[in-house]
This record gives sequence, C-alpha cells and structure tokens, in this order.
Amino acid sequence: MQLPAQRLTSLPENFFAKLEARIGALQRSGCEVIRLDIGSPDMPPPPPVIQALSSSASRADAHGYQTHLGPLALRQAWADMYRRVFGVSLDVESQVLPLLGSKEGIFNLLMAWINPGDVVLVPDPGYMTYTRGALFAGGEPHFVRLHAGNAYLPDLAALERHIPSDVLRRARLLWLNYPNNPTGAVANLEFFEQAVAFARRHNLLLCHDAAYTQVCFDGYRAPSLLEIPGALDVAVEFNSLSKSHNMPGWRLGAALGNPQVLQALFRIKTNIDSGHFRPVLDAAVAAMRGDQSWIEERNQVYQARRDVVVAALSRLGLAVSVPQAAIYVWSAVPAGWTALDFATSVLEQSQVSLTPGTVFGAAGEGYVRIALTTPTPALTQAMQRIAAWRAK
Ligand SMILES: *Cc1c(COP(=O)(O)O)cnc(C)c1O
Repeated sequence: MQLPAQRLTSLPENFFAKLEARIGALQRSGCEVIRLDIGSPDMPPPPPVIQALSSSASRADAHGYQTHLGPLALRQAWADMYRRVFGVSLDVESQVLPLLGSKEGIFNLLMAWINPGDVVLVPDPGYMTYTRGALFAGGEPHFVRLHAGNAYLPDLAALERHIPSDVLRRARLLWLNYPNNPTGAVANLEFFEQAVAFARRHNLLLCHDAAYTQVCFDGYRAPSLLEIPGALDVAVEFNSLSKSHNMPGWRLGAALGNPQVLQALFRIKTNIDSGHFRPVLDAAVAAMRGDQSWIEERNQVYQARRDVVVAALSRLGLAVSVPQAAIYVWSAVPAGWTALDFATSVLEQSQVSLTPGTVFGAAGEGYVRIALTTPTPALTQAMQRIAAWRAK
C-alpha cells in the first residue's frame, strides 16, 4: 500500500482522539470516567430552535442543495445580531460569510491567505487550528506567548522589540481569541485598538476568533474586535453559534469583516464545500432572532459551575484565576508535576479527565484546562475525587 500524502505530516494525531481511546479502555474495565477535557456545551438550544429545524425539515422543498452563501435571511440574522450585541453595522452582501462552524473557516482562511514561507503569528497557548492551518498552508507559525503576568494578552510592544525583523517582515497574519480558550482571559477595547494599530503598522491581517463573546459571567460583556473604528480595513472576526447558542454539533459559524478577505475565503469554500442543510440554516435564523434572555440564564449555570471548580482547586492550593467568560478554568498543576503527568495521573487515579495545557502549545506547560460543560453534581464529584487522591 502507498503512504498518505506528505502534507499530513503537518497534522499530528489529535490529542483528544488518543485520549478517547484511553478513556474507552478505562470504561470497559468498569471505571466511570468524568470528562472535563473537551469543551462541548452540554445544554440544548431553546425549544423554538428545534421547532424551526423540524418544521423546515418537513417541507418538501427544503432538501436540495443550498447556495454557498445560504439564504439572505441568515446573513441578515448575523448582521442584526452584530448590531444588537456589539453595536456593529455590517453590509450583509460583502461583510458576512456563513461557515460550516467556525473551525472550518479558520482553517480555510489560512489556506486562502497564506503562501509558503509566510509567517503566521499564533498565540501560545491557543486553539490548535491556528497552527495546524498555518502549517497546512505551508506557512510558518511564530508563537506569541501569552502568560499570566500580562493577563494572557500578547504583549505587542515586546513582540515588536524582540521578534527578528525578517520574521516580522514575513508576517502576514495575527490570531487573537478573546474570551480566550484555554485560559478564560478577556480583552478590552483598548487592547483591540492597539491590535488594530499593530496590524496597520505591519500590514498584517488581524483574525479574531470570537467564539465565546456571548458566554460571560459576573455582568461582564465581551466586545467584538469589529467595534474598533477602522477594524474592517484590516480584520476578520470568526463567530459561531456553537458556544453562544449551545449548538456545537450543528456546525454554524460566520466570518465577518473585511470584504476582500471574505471573498478569498469564499473562493476556497466554493471549491470544497456546499451550502448547509436548509433546516439547519432556518434553525440558525430562529436561534439568532428568537428571545435571547435564556442566554443569561445559561451563563449563570456555567458561572455556578465555575465557582465550584475554582473553590475546589483553591482548597487544593492550586493557582487558579477566576474566568469572566468562556467555558474553562485554567489551573496551575501542583509544584513538581508536568501538565501531562498531572492530567494522566488524575485520569488514572481519580477517573477524571482534564486537558493538559501543553495540548495548546509549549507555553501551556504547568497548567491544565478544566471544561465547565458537565452538570454541577458530576463536577462536584470530580473535584471530590481529585481532592481524595491528593490527600492520600
Ligand atoms: C469552540 C471553539 C470554536 C468554535 O468552533 P465551531 O467550529 O464553530 O464549533 C472556535 N474557536 C475556539 C477557540 C473554540 O474554542
């Protein structure tokens, strides 16, 4: 048999695929594993969304190919949500592009924008797709370190001072992601303003992954990068209904912002995918147009879970910050442990699955990520198991 294509060498095995094999083995041996590793929302979208899916699916004319852009009503719903939530006005024809989930758009954007040898500035720790897409396109990721000392924001002034000038010259794109996965950090408008200025100064495309902008706690409101005047000249934002509307399996996202960039992304997409199933698109419109008050209630559920986890980890003496948004707690591991050793031991000794920080990059060493997508009773039990193991 032949070997797979060489381009697969830039795509190492997914950590979660390996983890799931180990969890499966534990489960077969009778262990009840509590999974706090993957951040997959465990609550459903509200009933009107399901109803929209089902009534659309029973229409005879809902089953054909859809246009690549989808119905105008969908793009209009995205634009209206941006106006309502962020006060941002977008042109539905040129500044809104629906995606089959934002991960698809993040990867394909890199295919559409990056030439071999181009540098892509990627946060470390960060969502893996930024790096994998850059490598797949033949680009060169340059990691921009996020650390607690700078509130997990890239220090753009330090980057300008320390990055080799030939690397900066070849840099074509900077990724940002706030509220942040995996750290739960948030960015304010002042930081976004600096990022837009940085992108202008160095002729970079600024890409902001805004998947968690509607999962906020304690009254915090996460801004859109597109709120910055002039951001549309240099930036694209990726948004998604996966976390905002509890719809991760539905694959509903959008790229919003600079028209030239969206056109390039669209060109790639028209060659790879086709429009989504119409009833899913109709449900997306219902999700964005319907009563949104449930989102605040849902956020309070995540917030209560966050408080359980933060309190338990603090009792164990671990350094943990209290996230104001997203669905993760980012915790230091005890002194003397690596992230992977600690996560592996917690899994084997307590049957609780956490994500080692190094899955998100080398700078994640010393940390684990705990997802808040498990109901409070199981989350409480998980924390008790870890405490019992640590007390031994
Ligand atoms: C969950 C998540 C997304 C959303 O991905 P979809 O493909 O829209 O489901 C995007 N970026 C980050 C950082 C995420 O954690």
